[in-house]
Amino acid sequence: MGEQPSTDLGQDRAHSARMYDYYLGGTTNYAVDREAARAVIEVFPAIETVARVNRAYMHRAARYLAQQGVRQFLDVGTGIPTTPNLHNVVQDVAADCRVVYVDNDPIVLVYADELLDGTSEGRTAYVQADATEPDDVIAAVVEKDVLDFNQPIALSLHALLHFVPDDRRPRELVARLLEPLVSGSYLSLSHCTGDYAPEAWQAIIDTYIQRGTPAQVRNRAEVERFFTGLDLVDPGLVLAHQWRPEPGSGPAVLTERQVSLYAGVARKR
Ligand code: SAH
Repeated sequence: MGEQPSTDLGQDRAHSARMYDYYLGGTTNYAVDREAARAVIEVFPAIETVARVNRAYMHRAARYLAQQGVRQFLDVGTGIPTTPNLHNVVQDVAADCRVVYVDNDPIVLVYADELLDGTSEGRTAYVQADATEPDDVIAAVVEKDVLDFNQPIALSLHALLHFVPDDRRPRELVARLLEPLVSGSYLSLSHCTGDYAPEAWQAIIDTYIQRGTPAQVRNRAEVERFFTGLDLVDPGLVLAHQWRPEPGSGPAVLTERQVSLYAGVARKR
């Protein structure tokens, strides 16, 4: 990376956002991140596929939601900007879409300008907040005054909750973020699973934890529980590449093991 911003970016340890950037082939990562990412690739080379499939899922889910008429998006755990970002996808469907991004990693804040280059008809904003403090997230989002909480909002938690172990109360986090959203709002979620390669995923989780990032994979039933009280839209909770696949969206032939990522979209009653 080039210029060093004055913010403390936590270069003393690997960060999940920068490891994910490395898996995606990005350059917004440091030696410490690349070492950790390579340790993961060593035990599970398909991690790069997981990242790409996740990103492709985000594109399809966001586009689907915009096509359903949703015009407001709250994306928590946004990650380092990677084109196309969520606002590019939804504003392509409807230029007046409004998007608020949330992440707690200082590196995302440094590059957040790239998340704010939306259409003149729409609006985007970035909030630096910790998802495990959902009340703070909501308060900061409300303060931005970009989203109208009287209209439906699509909440996206893409590849976030596996960084929220059970002791950080992930289900309460989801419930609290959904609480202020009106009927007709949506939740889109993707989540890594050890269901198809348990030993490899245990090694991946160990790699993250040993380097200071709490993480936990969940099985199908555990991921499905995040949707309690919501109506999953077709095809329900599936492996991410099976969610409304489109030609050219992600690699053509994939095994369950390579994907190891559940995804689904549900509507609030
Ligand atoms: N949603 C993006 C990026 C996923 S990587 C995508 O699917 O492509 C996971 C992101 O979650 C990282 O940017 C990381 O910084 C962020 N994250 C992890 N824990 C978080 C927390 N407690 N609060 C906010 N963001 C968090």
